[in-house]
Amino acid sequence: MSAFLKPCQFLTKQGLFRHQVKFFSVSSSRLDGETVGFIGLGNMGRGMADNLITKGHSVVLYDVVPEAVDALTAKGARGATSPAEVAAESDLIVTMLPNNAIVSNVYEGIFGSVKSGSFLIDSSTVDPALSKDLAVKAASAGCQFVDAPVSGGINAASAGTLTFMVGANTDEDFAKAEELLSKMGAKITHCGGVGTGGAVKICNNMLLAVSMIGTSEAMNLGIKLGLDPKLLAGILGSATGRCWSVDTYNPCPGVMENVPSSNDYKGGFGTALMTKDLGLAQDAATRAQAATPLGSLSHQIYRVMCNAGYAEKDFSSAFKFLREQDK
Ligand code: NAD
Repeated sequence: MSAFLKPCQFLTKQGLFRHQVKFFSVSSSRLDGETVGFIGLGNMGRGMADNLITKGHSVVLYDVVPEAVDALTAKGARGATSPAEVAAESDLIVTMLPNNAIVSNVYEGIFGSVKSGSFLIDSSTVDPALSKDLAVKAASAGCQFVDAPVSGGINAASAGTLTFMVGANTDEDFAKAEELLSKMGAKITHCGGVGTGGAVKICNNMLLAVSMIGTSEAMNLGIKLGLDPKLLAGILGSATGRCWSVDTYNPCPGVMENVPSSNDYKGGFGTALMTKDLGLAQDAATRAQAATPLGSLSHQIYRVMCNAGYAEKDFSSAFKFLREQDK
């Protein structure tokens, strides 16, 4: 049973009125009876698909790693052997894949057998230009496509509390996406047409990389000037240098508990993924002729970090990397 608001009409002496009336009913949904396909069951996709299964959807799954599929078929989903098989059996499809090349390749398989009228949602972080291209191909196949990249890491994916940034060409497409995404996320925002979800995502991550490197530099300098790191972080966190990298996710080990910097930079958001997102931002900036000198420099710093063995460490390891350059 669930509570929801439903517009009702009442005929009174004064005429016809519309009221919002709260009442209780077994919730009916446009998704009832529809099969959801899910492709890409890695760190993020695993938890997202699990939420769909737990919340009662009929789910068909595919990943190139068979064990990833097996782990969720044990919970009641059906396994498929290719993206084409998922597409042939699904009314909606969610993809959560690593990069542009893999997303393009998987959608080739989907478009080979997708049912006309299917609804496609790509939650991978990819180039907004690729999302627009996929939307055109989807329309040729009689389908709707939205991009819906996420903010929030593995824990939010498991808890069903992700933030989705949705690029949908119509309000109707957004409403349909929102209905499914609300089973996996807590905040779902319509950013504009297809590609705008990805645009917001790469702008955010470019800013995050710049602020993380800046925070790492400030912390490193302060420590070398003899400051206590906790005192420095505390003052920065209530002064004009305040940002998320300072007061919520400080990169200096020991300043905060329960952040990757205090756990040898394990968990969190990997340097390789941040480097990928910065590359997407640079590609987009080149096309848009937008000057992003700090974004470009951050991309190069994170790329050097990947080559220096930091690829799998959390991106706040920029602090550790800087410290090592000083030696
Ligand atoms: P991941 O590498 O853990 O998972 C990707 C999954 O895709 C893997 O299970 C892999 O086997 C599968 N895969 C690869 N090629 C495939 C193919 N051809 N067909 C089917 N499956 C295939 O990556 P992730 O951390 O889950 O991230 C997924 C996306 O979400 C990325 O675009 C990433 O940038 C974005 N993202 C990640 C995080 C995070 O914290 N990890 C946060 C926000 C956004």
